[in-house]
Amino acid sequence: MEVRGARENNLKNVSLDIPKKKITVFTGVSGSGKSSLVFDTIAAESQRLINETYTTFIQSIMPSFAQPDADSLANLSAAIVVDQKRLGGNSRSTVGTVTDSFTMLRLIYARLGEAAVDHSGLLSFNDPRGMCPDCEGLGLVSKINVDALVDRTKSLNEGPINFPVWAVNSFDWDIFARSGFFDLDKKLADYTEAEWDKFLNLPEAKVKFGKYNITYEGLLWKFKRRYLSKESDQMQPHLRVVFDRIVSREPCESCGGTRLGRPALECRINGKNIADCAAMEVADLADFIRKIDDPKLAPMVASLTARLDNLTHIGLGYLSLGRESSSLSGGESQRVKMVRHLGSSLTDMTYVFDEPSVGLHPHDVHRLNELLQRLRDKGNTVLVVEHKPDVIAIADH
Ligand SMILES: [Zn+2]
Repeated sequence: MEVRGARENNLKNVSLDIPKKKITVFTGVSGSGKSSLVFDTIAAESQRLINETYTTFIQSIMPSFAQPDADSLANLSAAIVVDQKRLGGNSRSTVGTVTDSFTMLRLIYARLGEAAVDHSGLLSFNDPRGMCPDCEGLGLVSKINVDALVDRTKSLNEGPINFPVWAVNSFDWDIFARSGFFDLDKKLADYTEAEWDKFLNLPEAKVKFGKYNITYEGLLWKFKRRYLSKESDQMQPHLRVVFDRIVSREPCESCGGTRLGRPALECRINGKNIADCAAMEVADLADFIRKIDDPKLAPMVASLTARLDNLTHIGLGYLSLGRESSSLSGGESQRVKMVRHLGSSLTDMTYVFDEPSVGLHPHDVHRLNELLQRLRDKGNTVLVVEHKPDVIAIADH
């Protein structure tokens, strides 16, 4: 790759050639321009050129890269930046899903599990066919604390509902008041069982509002329909604060927090179901999978154990596949991404690493080096910004 006259940020007209299919380490004091050269010039230009191959519409929804300040850049290949940005994603994104290990695990279970499941989708908590119906594959359910929501020592006239939209004289409070079901001065604690049930649980009734018919719903019904069905981060902040006092998230009892429906949990190999596998440390899981002895599945078993061994070799053997990716540190995220790319069948790529040894135990640095070397040996160009002498030592250039 030829870089001529690079001037991005603090670079002073830098020109250099970088060999392909080799490991090149960029090192130097902070502020010397390593990142400006590697990320802001080489990787940025590669990604900009790739973006230009998409239609205008696709380009408009993708991040845009300005052309880096340089006289010329030639012979670039497609760049993948493996940085320490945390792996975001919602709670459906786990170590197992981002490394594709779950897909392989499910295929093995679909073929070998003792209770037959005819489709591997039945084993996925991200697939409606496989997810626990009660928590929709989240492993958690929302519980409403009724005593946080209402103050039983108050009557309707005293505003017993601790949620702003049901304040006295509000529209929603008015529906309770005009329903004719309640004595507005009676303390909630004195309600008969029938009144209490109507107050909380009546699914639907028509209430006359002058000439209009309004739908009455019991408080819990309405609260659930309005506030539990939507993602709570879409809630207005002032409601959110109150909501968090009233609603707690607890492990789902139906699936024991495993996110999976019955058929998946009943599907076992050597006594373990797929949820047991997701809870194991990947180092132990690799040993368990290795013991599966079935000639038809040998290639799948080999690729899954290789993927899990890669996680272990890079010092992540303590993670489980069920661990949510958003809870990983920056260093852990970067190494998980590295394992994902090692499993990729793309070659001739340029991988760009930002201080990959950060957060790594000194004993594990040689393992990091092995992974970098394997990426290179698969026919990729590896660029590393790094300070640690042990990593610098493996540079080809
Ligand atoms: Zn569940």
